Amino acid sequence: MKILVANIGSTSLKWRLFDFSATAATMLHKGGYERVADYAKAIDDCLGELKAAGHIRGEQDLAAVGFKTVVARGVSGCVRLNDSVLRAMEAYNAIAPAHNPPYITGIRLFAKRMPATPLIGLFETAFYQWAPEAAQRYAVPESWHEAGVRRWGFHGASHKFIAERSAELLGRQDVAERARRLYVDGGASPVTGAPLRVVSCHLGGSSSVSGILNGAAVGNSLGLSPQSGLPHNNRVGDLDSFAIPLVMRTLGLSLDEVERQLCKESGLKGISGVSNDIRDIQTAAAGGNARAKLALDVFVHASRHWIGGYLMELNGADALVFTAGIGENRPELRAAICERLDQLGIELDPVANEKTRATEGLISSARSKVKVLVIPTNEELVVARETRRLLERQ
Ligand code: ADP
Repeated sequence: MKILVANIGSTSLKWRLFDFSATAATMLHKGGYERVADYAKAIDDCLGELKAAGHIRGEQDLAAVGFKTVVARGVSGCVRLNDSVLRAMEAYNAIAPAHNPPYITGIRLFAKRMPATPLIGLFETAFYQWAPEAAQRYAVPESWHEAGVRRWGFHGASHKFIAERSAELLGRQDVAERARRLYVDGGASPVTGAPLRVVSCHLGGSSSVSGILNGAAVGNSLGLSPQSGLPHNNRVGDLDSFAIPLVMRTLGLSLDEVERQLCKESGLKGISGVSNDIRDIQTAAAGGNARAKLALDVFVHASRHWIGGYLMELNGADALVFTAGIGENRPELRAAICERLDQLGIELDPVANEKTRATEGLISSARSKVKVLVIPTNEELVVARETRRLLERQ
């Protein structure tokens, strides 16, 4: 069974093609286009590449296309992307202005191009369905809560992958299996050993920290929207809600302009004034740029704040995991985040940390009670697996 997973950005289309046999998933092809001007053509070109590579004869060979959809009103989990789900996504465009509109446009174009192929979305909020109610609730009036103002949590596909893979690496097949089956049985699979506690740090263009107990999330630093929690590349991260009326009144900004600045001019770019890429910011900081240095310090501070929260929530941790662009590739930031944590049982091995880039590896010292791991994430595989499961259930 062949499943295409399409990753849609406002001007990019990236994909991975998976083939499922009875026992395993194989990635057959990966590719993508940046700076896409004509999305319909990009979809055609993608199918053309898959045909040219001999993986499909035509779209009839694709059992489904899976998407890592972000958020929708009243919808989570893994679902068929019919018109009512697309309208539910539209209803939350205001929460995810950088993510939902391009996804909706892209999915509609896929539907037009291949009307007979099931289009399936795994929502980024899905992993947090079983988080404790107290971790999902903002202290707002009931009517706001009912309107959807709650901590949804995001990066669900990535943190779910980390839940599965970290359990495997820690020799806990029972927890890995429980995590894999989570969307099927809501965590009914038994755990045979001690509770497994993992703090997962997805640090990249957008960043979040999740606490994971026995393969299921207890919470995520992203709340109502993918603009909260840690500062992101150009999106704000946590902010006191009263900042918005303050800048509207004192700087005379319109609500549209406030939204634009929170989504495009804030985060690491806003603080540093240099770039939204951590590599440029590190270069500038090394050259003495004080704002760039401050952006890195704020990022490290926020990471430690959220890691600390989940260490408390989980009563310690068996593993601390780094993943995504920054987590996998920036040893200096991992070192800064893990500095002075020996009393919490977290101690890096500087040599292992330095040499682990874009690969799986253990980077804690032999003394460290908490294992610190680098695990390259594989969100597309999680989407493909759940897509396949939904097809089989239906
Ligand atoms: P996104 O969240 O958009 O998928 P990524 O996970 O690729 O983004 O993370 C982007 C960030 O990670 C950037 O700040 C970038 O500097 C950093 N990064 C990504 N890949 C590398 C790499 N190979 N080496 C160093 N830094 C990287």
